[in-house]
Amino acid sequence: MDCAVHGPFVCRANFSLDSYQSLFGELALLERELIRTLAIEKAQIPIEVYLFSDRATYETYLRQLYPSVPYRRALFVRSGNLGRVFAYRADALPVDLRHECTHALMHASQPMVPLWLDEGLAEYFEVPEHQRAFDSPHLASLRWNMRFGMIPSLRMLEAKSDLSEMGGLEYRFSWAWAHFMLHGPVDAHRELVYFLADARRGKPPGLLSSRLALAVPDLQMRFVQHFKYWKQA
Ligand SMILES: [Zn+2]
Repeated sequence: MDCAVHGPFVCRANFSLDSYQSLFGELALLERELIRTLAIEKAQIPIEVYLFSDRATYETYLRQLYPSVPYRRALFVRSGNLGRVFAYRADALPVDLRHECTHALMHASQPMVPLWLDEGLAEYFEVPEHQRAFDSPHLASLRWNMRFGMIPSLRMLEAKSDLSEMGGLEYRFSWAWAHFMLHGPVDAHRELVYFLADARRGKPPGLLSSRLALAVPDLQMRFVQHFKYWKQA
């Protein structure tokens, strides 16, 4: 068993973690990045990361621990005062770890995070930092959707309460709203920060769709324009 501590993460693996030092360095920076962009707080609960050498071991372990949870390539579970991330060694491990650790960090600071926002932020932060703004794999697909008149509805996303209701399109559209709030009008970004702050202080935050509609005039048009003109200078 290999064990290492990186930022708020305590990582345990049944294989050597020597070749993953730079990935863990990135994960430690992820918390700083979430604090910087979302003004959330440092993790208030410990986060344990369990890494398995192969899929079979991972699957067997998780089936015993969480028999009712459907199989997923990686998993975040909050149980009481502890966050746990599970994943296995594969090409997608860096993406999986950044994704699940984003969930873990959000839930280690926030008492609640709406499902679509949780997934939208995890999709945004799962790619390496230099790809997040301009090179997400979602960007081209989203533009293709929008060219055919598919404008992601935030209210539709807010109505989803279970992961089983989230397909590829819902993940992409959730990413799109996260991207819009992080890189679009400053009023949208501010509203996201205020929304998270209200939730953290125990003040009912309401719906982000309603708050954004008030904070950003012509919200839908601004959203469309954001992605129409978004490119690296
Ligand atoms: Zn997720």
